[in-house]
Amino acid sequence: MLPAVARGHRGWFHPCARLSVRMSSTGIDRKGILAERVAVVTGSTSGIGFAIARRLAQDGAHVVISSRKQQNVDRAAAQLQREGLSVAGIVCHVGKAEDRERLVATVRGQALEHCGGIDFLVCCAGVNPLVGSTLGTSEQIWDKILNVNVKSPALLLSQLLPYMEKRKGAVTLVSSVAAYFPRMELGVYNVSKTALLALTRTLALELAPKDIRVNCLVPGVIKTDFSKVLHGNESLLKYLREYLQMQRIGEPEDCAGVVSFLCSPDASYITGENIAVAGFSSRL
Ligand code: NAP
Repeated sequence: MLPAVARGHRGWFHPCARLSVRMSSTGIDRKGILAERVAVVTGSTSGIGFAIARRLAQDGAHVVISSRKQQNVDRAAAQLQREGLSVAGIVCHVGKAEDRERLVATVRGQALEHCGGIDFLVCCAGVNPLVGSTLGTSEQIWDKILNVNVKSPALLLSQLLPYMEKRKGAVTLVSSVAAYFPRMELGVYNVSKTALLALTRTLALELAPKDIRVNCLVPGVIKTDFSKVLHGNESLLKYLREYLQMQRIGEPEDCAGVVSFLCSPDASYITGENIAVAGFSSRL
């Protein structure tokens, strides 16, 4: 019995998911470019993580969604299952060791039994208490932000790794353009998202011998609950629209296809990269 789990059809995974039509450049795959692969996406019951989970499932993967609150997990899993996608959900606050352990134990059991292992990890969960200046931030807030944003992806990956080996899998971390262009009011968040760029390159180096690629999605301002202080502010919006080359705020779906690509065989020689999805060129 797995009390924190929202189950899919026929146990955990739905073998006959409805698929999107993107095909691999390496050959036509009618089952979906990520068919028979297993993806774990953290922070995936709303916003960017939810859009990524949906897209990976549309591209054929069996997807495990997760977040802190059971009702969010249940709602998101039910919505994606209604769309005919192979999705299961489990509660996991990424900053809590016991939640990560439960996620790993549950996914391991199901994924090994039904699919032989785990292929993809997408670490989307992030925290951003608006704390203002870095030097004015308490040790408790420093610990909270670094724990959730930086430590948890590495710790979760280290626990999943034994089940990801020999599958040519991929890891995607989620940073922010705040890593390139820090904003005063975001303080330690800027630091945490910059650390993720270093974590990406370090993990890419460490995992290349295992044929596991590690890349980083770098979103700009994307319309979600997380960023509503930005897109709810009309004068800031006006400024942003002028500043953004695309002259619009991004949608979560703008981020989703990139992550599916990074997981796919089309990205088989791409690792250690940061890919900005920001509506402007982030190259310095
Ligand atoms: P969002 O719409 O607020 O969604 C956040 C998701 O993460 C929810 O499913 C939430 O569900 C879950 N979550 C929050 N804290 C968690 C934790 N400690 N452990 C596990 N799950 C957690 O946020 P978003 O805009 O999609 O942001 C996702 C990521 O993108 C973050 O890492 C953020 O830093 C990054 N990002 C966002 C933007 C932007 O403009 N939106 C820009 C740059 C980078 P529960 O409440 O149930 O936990």
